Amino acid sequence: GGGAAMAERGGIALLGAAAGAPSCPHGPTLLFVKASPGKEEGRRFYACSACRDRKDCNFFQWEDEKVSQTRLAAREEYNRNHQPSFTHRQNVERYKNFVQLPLSKRRFCQECQQLLLPAEWENHADHQFLCDISTAQLKSPSQLLYALENKKTNAQYLFADRSCQFLLNLLIDLGFRRVLSVGTPRLHELIQSKASQEEDFRIRSLLLDIDFRYSQFYTEDEFCHYNMFNHYFFGGEAAHETCRKFLYEDNGERVIMVTDPPFGGLVEALASSFKKLMAMWKETGKEGHNNKEMPMFWIFPYFFESRILDFFPSFNMMDYQVDYDNHALYKHGKTGRRQSPVRIFTNLTPRMIVLPVEEGYRFCTICQRYVSSGNQHCEICDSCTSKDGRRWKHCVLCKKCVKPSWFHCNNCNCCALQTHSCEKTDAGCFVCGKAGHKRSVCPSLSHT
Ligand code: SAH
Ligand code: ZN
Ligand code: ZN
Ligand code: ZN
Ligand code: ZN
Repeated sequence: GGGAAMAERGGIALLGAAAGAPSCPHGPTLLFVKASPGKEEGRRFYACSACRDRKDCNFFQWEDEKVSQTRLAAREEYNRNHQPSFTHRQNVERYKNFVQLPLSKRRFCQECQQLLLPAEWENHADHQFLCDISTAQLKSPSQLLYALENKKTNAQYLFADRSCQFLLNLLIDLGFRRVLSVGTPRLHELIQSKASQEEDFRIRSLLLDIDFRYSQFYTEDEFCHYNMFNHYFFGGEAAHETCRKFLYEDNGERVIMVTDPPFGGLVEALASSFKKLMAMWKETGKEGHNNKEMPMFWIFPYFFESRILDFFPSFNMMDYQVDYDNHALYKHGKTGRRQSPVRIFTNLTPRMIVLPVEEGYRFCTICQRYVSSGNQHCEICDSCTSKDGRRWKHCVLCKKCVKPSWFHCNNCNCCALQTHSCEKTDAGCFVCGKAGHKRSVCPSLSHT
């Protein structure tokens, strides 16, 4: 289960951005509602948009809470003190100095995750550090930095080489010249390093990510410190403008956005930010993009399909399985292939997304898209119905294809694992507990 499901289990649902919401160090907080059993209405509160773990950001405020002037002032001070110790501008200057140094003086502190200038060595004397940082290492910061794997906040899972190369080749074949990389540092890095090495490589990338460590390696035109759960640019109006400029399609240079958000993240918060990025693109287009949408790849597990389509009805899910380096479950083993649940959702025409035949994909002429070789075309559904790459089977009673391991249960009147327990009935709306509607349309919530 993902963010929303996880949140529901705790009886908490997202209401979204609210005008006048207080800010934490990660920008404006989001409004949530906590179900209180036996009560008609849940109680609303503000919490951090980016961190789902209180250890990472403990901001909490009831919506109806009175906050004193003293506490407001203390909070502002706290937010200021919780910004990174160097600004992006300072980090760019530091980088310029760093690359001037001879190899023997180029150190990277592994504890502070920071490039060190010789004058700073003393302060990091008892820290672990790497020496002789080469230009190649500076060009692949995602290898130098450790991945922030804490599931509830950064969930940094880096693309395996083959998936990253596949994505880039696809973007090239589709003719895109600019990539807005939202939470895809490794794709950004591949594009940047090719651009600096190959003369006829014309693609550019702008990285938007909450991981500020990347500001040590990229200029303000290449990286914006950004929170994709509340569409917050930490660099203020100047960073906004950088992004806007990037989206402006000069001399017909086509833009695509590629994003790979933390899977635990709240889909509705992400969707709302991505819509704002799409709107930014649209505003730069004058009459050019009248009824068009900014092309987008949203990389996410297949079980979020219906949630994503709720927000982006023009999207389709591709069968391509995205692989990761540091995710034990989602990567190809050396022998045989481990299935990854992660897919590409896109508003581009499915048949344009050519999947590699040598990795086991084929073209379905009826569906007009590439599918996993195991994904059989179902005559009754009239589509290639498998979501996970295995061959699914049609259930005449459910009138749809289901997982191969499922059987029709006459008690439940649907297909399920043979080992399921029939008593587990639909719990109904978790806000008010009544059956017949979901929390998102619960009448006891007046929406903001
Ligand atoms: N597969 C991608 C990385 C995806 S991991 C690649 O290899 O390039 C998720 C990414 O989203 C990480 O880079 C993480 O730092 C970033 N991220 C996590 N929370 C974020 C937030 N609230 N706003 C913006 N970026 C975030
Ligand atoms: Zn250090
Ligand atoms: Zn088909
Ligand atoms: Zn079927
Ligand atoms: Zn049953």
